[in-house]
Amino acid sequence: MKRTVIKIDENLCNGCGNCVSGCHERALQLINGKAVMISELYCDGLGVCIGDCPVGAIELIEKEAEPYDEQAVMERISPKGENVILAHLKHLKHHNQEVLLNEGIEWCRKNRPEMEVPCCGGLLQLALKAREDAKVNIPVKLIKLSVQGDIIEQEWI
Ligand code: SF4
Repeated sequence: MKRTVIKIDENLCNGCGNCVSGCHERALQLINGKAVMISELYCDGLGVCIGDCPVGAIELIEKEAEPYDEQAVMERISPKGENVILAHLKHLKHHNQEVLLNEGIEWCRKNRPEMEVPCCGGLLQLALKAREDAKVNIPVKLIKLSVQGDIIEQEWI
């Protein structure tokens, strides 16, 4: 299929590794001092790594590529631990990738049942939008609960 993926200019790349550590999907690796995309399956084509590159070696291109595979990404990043998984899910949410986000959350439910995956962020957005539409400064409090019902975090918004 034709889709957007990143392309790295090997001549410009200085091997700083910023893009490797910044890629939530673990799609990049430093090999022989150059950043290399390991598999197009892992590249979501959002191009967040472009901003990480100090020398402008990364660009987005349209090309025939394997489709992005959220399951494969989750399997790949899972051994890196909960924080990496949560960073990946937040990254999808931040970029409004609802379908992929739901796939990732579903994957966690099946494969990492011990994880507490935040999934109700949409409720907060609804409440904030309702307050904005009402044009009345109604106090809104965000309370995050664990799956056991304990309060993890709370703050007035
Ligand atoms: S951020 Fe840019 S220069 Fe650094 S490793 Fe990645 S592509 Fe190379």
